Amino acid sequence: MAEFRFYEELNDFLALPRRKRTFTWSCPQDATVKHAIEALGVPHTEVDLILVNGESVGFSRLVQRNDRISVYPQFESFDITPLVRLRSRPLRNVRFITDAHLGGLAKYLRMLGFDTLTRDDRTAGEVIRVATSERRILLTRSRSLLMHRTVTHGFFVHEQRPLLQCEEVVSRLQLQARCRPFSRCLRCNVRLEELDRQAAASRLDPPTLKHFEEFRYCSSCHRVYWEGSHYRRMAELVERLSRQHRAPDPG
Ligand SMILES: [Zn+2]
Repeated sequence: MAEFRFYEELNDFLALPRRKRTFTWSCPQDATVKHAIEALGVPHTEVDLILVNGESVGFSRLVQRNDRISVYPQFESFDITPLVRLRSRPLRNVRFITDAHLGGLAKYLRMLGFDTLTRDDRTAGEVIRVATSERRILLTRSRSLLMHRTVTHGFFVHEQRPLLQCEEVVSRLQLQARCRPFSRCLRCNVRLEELDRQAAASRLDPPTLKHFEEFRYCSSCHRVYWEGSHYRRMAELVERLSRQHRAPDPG
């Protein structure tokens, strides 16, 4: 029998009677902390810090009788560097893969310039394999995907609507400063190339050409992007996200 307490949004994964309170649970014998946490419904990828009897431990710590186990999500702002964080460091290049249900989110992330793969016809196994081999952060609303043992960097998306999902990912992973709008094809995920005016002239209507200065081009689908089309929406989104970032912490 050990005592557990989960903090913040980790409570969303627990059965109702266990939320936001300390509860006791009898673990299977020889369970590690990671096994216990996932058996209670919380994917390990959502957890950033575990204290057992007040000391920070790793996932492989065995649960002992009468342990008091506190489990914390990924912290946004306050500094816990003196404690053991469960992942050595965040991935340096932020790249994503979404499961088949989050295609709308993938488009918004591309709109902000983030390399994001998504494929309707990928099986769950393929999604996990690509996430691991290409060191991509797995975005999903499926707990079982995140509980897969090879997944190290994953993110459970709480929101239902693509735009809100995008805001959730950017603000929880603090990516505001890394947004590069107008740099990636929404359809192909390919980086856009500069297109000079002369080359643009053969592809666009004269009015579009007249009103805009900068043009970019996707070498994969040959679509031309210019500041008028998606740029305003992107700029608004980035502006809203960075406003949230600057907002004082209510807590
Ligand atoms: Zn394209």
